[in-house]
Amino acid sequence: ANIFKTGWTGTNERTFIAVKPDGVQRRLVGEIILRFERKGFKLVGMKLLQASEEQLRQHYRDLREKPFYGGLIKYMSSGPIVAMVWQGLDVVKAARKMLGETNPADSLPGTIRGDYCIEVSRNVIHGSDSVESAQREISLWFNHHELFCWEECNEHWIYA
Ligand code: UDP
Ligand code: MG
Repeated sequence: ANIFKTGWTGTNERTFIAVKPDGVQRRLVGEIILRFERKGFKLVGMKLLQASEEQLRQHYRDLREKPFYGGLIKYMSSGPIVAMVWQGLDVVKAARKMLGETNPADSLPGTIRGDYCIEVSRNVIHGSDSVESAQREISLWFNHHELFCWEECNEHWIYA
C-alpha cells in the first residue's frame, strides 16, 4: 500500500510541518517541537535539509502566480529547514491553529506565529492546510523509509 495516500485518518492523520530558515536561524526549532510534543502529537519523521528550488516550486505550486512567489522561494531556500511529520487526531487542523494565521500580525498570542514573528514573509513555520495537501507534501519531502510507525506508551492517556 502507498502509505502516503491511504489509511491516514483518525488518530493516524498526518501533517507536514517545516521550521523555515528564519525559524532555524532564530533557534526556534526546540520550542516548536516542544509545543507539538506537549500537545500529545506523535513525531513520525524529521530531518534538517536544504530545500532545492525545484522542491520548493513543487511545494508552493499553487502560489506561482502570486507577487510574493519569487521572494518566497528565495526565502525558503536561504538556509536549512527542519522538515517534520506529526501524527494524531485531526492533526492537520489542530496544527494550523497552533501556527496561527498566515500573517503574524493577525495571529493571536499563544500561537507560534503570534508569539515568535512579525512579518508574513518571515513567518517561521509551515503547516499543511488540508489532509490532501498534507499527503502531497509528505510524499514530496519524505520517502517511506524516513517515516516511522511506532507504538507510544502514552496512547491511553492521550486518547480515550
Ligand atoms: N507569504 C508571503 N506574503 C503573503 C502571503 C504569503 O510572503 O502575502 C508567504 C508566507 O511565508 C506564507 C507562504 O507564503 O507562509 C505560503 O502562503 P500561504 O497562503 O500558503 O500561507 P500558509 O499556508 O503558510 O499560512
Ligand atoms: Mg499554505
